[in-house]
Amino acid sequence: MTLTTTIPIAPNPRARDYLEEGRAFADITADGTVGSSPRATGAGVSPQSDPERTTVVVIGGGQAGLSVGYHLARRNIPFVILEADERIGDVWRRRWDSLKLFTPAGYDGLDGMPFPDHVHAFPTKDAMADYLEAYAARFDLPVRTGMRVDRVSRRDGRYLVSAGDARFEADNVVIAMGTFQRPRIPAFADDLDPGIVQLHSGAYRNPGQLKDGDLLIVGAGNSGSEVARELANDGRRVWMSGRDTGHIPFRVEGFLGRNLLIHLVVGFVFYRVLTTSTPIGRKVRPKILSQGGPLIRVKPKDLAALGVERVGRTSGVEDGRPRLEDGRVLDVENVIWCTGFEPDFSWIDLPEIPDNDEPKHDRGVVADVPGLYFVGLEFLYSMASVMIQGAGRDARYIVDRIAERTPAVN
Ligand SMILES: Cc1cc2nc3c(=O)[nH]c(=O)nc-3n(C[C@H](O)[C@H](O)[C@H](O)COP(=O)(O)OP(=O)(O)OC[C@H]3O[C@@H](n4cnc5c(N)ncnc54)[C@H](O)[C@@H]3O)c2cc1C
Repeated sequence: MTLTTTIPIAPNPRARDYLEEGRAFADITADGTVGSSPRATGAGVSPQSDPERTTVVVIGGGQAGLSVGYHLARRNIPFVILEADERIGDVWRRRWDSLKLFTPAGYDGLDGMPFPDHVHAFPTKDAMADYLEAYAARFDLPVRTGMRVDRVSRRDGRYLVSAGDARFEADNVVIAMGTFQRPRIPAFADDLDPGIVQLHSGAYRNPGQLKDGDLLIVGAGNSGSEVARELANDGRRVWMSGRDTGHIPFRVEGFLGRNLLIHLVVGFVFYRVLTTSTPIGRKVRPKILSQGGPLIRVKPKDLAALGVERVGRTSGVEDGRPRLEDGRVLDVENVIWCTGFEPDFSWIDLPEIPDNDEPKHDRGVVADVPGLYFVGLEFLYSMASVMIQGAGRDARYIVDRIAERTPAVN
């Protein structure tokens, strides 16, 4: 079996290895190969030296972590942001080459700095990455890049955070490392014929990574649909397997979509109506967490027009080929797993926090562990929590709670 992130294919770590080693999405390097991510060098810090003390350590310098930093800075609360990648925005840079944001620029700015494009434009993923870098620079946020946190523990009511040899001690820790951590790939992926190229959507960049020939996309959410559209345009036969997640019933790029409906859905329904403060929000939350949100840009009829064939769930492997739940076996050369991601909190050494599940929290506040917070989790507070426009509000809420337990700033 070939699990690869790029062509040339070798070396080809097996899918299970990839999962069992606990490699995160962030471990897919900028050139698309799976490799060791930059580790904290801890330059000048010996393991024996005293930890650096601060009030808040923010783990992760994506949109969620930077938003927390922005609000901490406004409150004059001392903090540091530890970011695993060498460059802010690399999570976006690693996403597939043709990706444009699903949301227009009017919804792609963080608190204090609008996205520098026409409000109706759909920025490229690299423009988003550069925006995040510019955001950190503009507000002079203390981001330490190349610092992958590998342990958080607690001693005498304070937190110890280590990133390689570098160590920090803080009253509060904010976990802002995103929902998209560890690719979720079913165990039977191991049994696919080694001649089939298979990769996870987190490693997909462009059609050049694939063999000539037909393709199965497993997973029918936003990523699966966008990738299916690109690859059907590439002139191959494409099957897309999985449950229908529903779709927004208008074109986000159309006149009505741009001027009215996007505001209604993204700005109002996702941001204000579907929250844990409303009965309807609490009702749909479990469904969103288990099945994903609706398709935003691509419509099922677009895929049908391109000849993408929708099929049921992929349930296993027969003679090295993917088998569908209706018993059909597909003779494909490529499989892309658009099956999402799962959390990996195994490096948080606190008994209250599960390794691979959503932690118990209210709007990101972990009541059982005072001083520990999460941001950027799916439906943390609202449907928009995992989106760019929701990051600022969630961050502000967390920072208000931190300020309440930080007497000097009250
Ligand atoms: C394909 C795709 C397209 C999307 N398009 C849109 C869109 O158009 N509009 C929209 O609003 N949302 C979109 N989203 C959703 C969301 O905005 C992004 O996923 C966004 O990247 C989430 O930001 P984040 O800060 O929560 O997490 P991330 O961007 O994942 O950032 C987390 C950061 O934490 C770092 N990190 C991880 N582990 C550690 C560690 N142990 N120590 C230190 N640092 C660590 C990572 O390197 C990373 O920089 C999209 C998501 C995907 C997957």
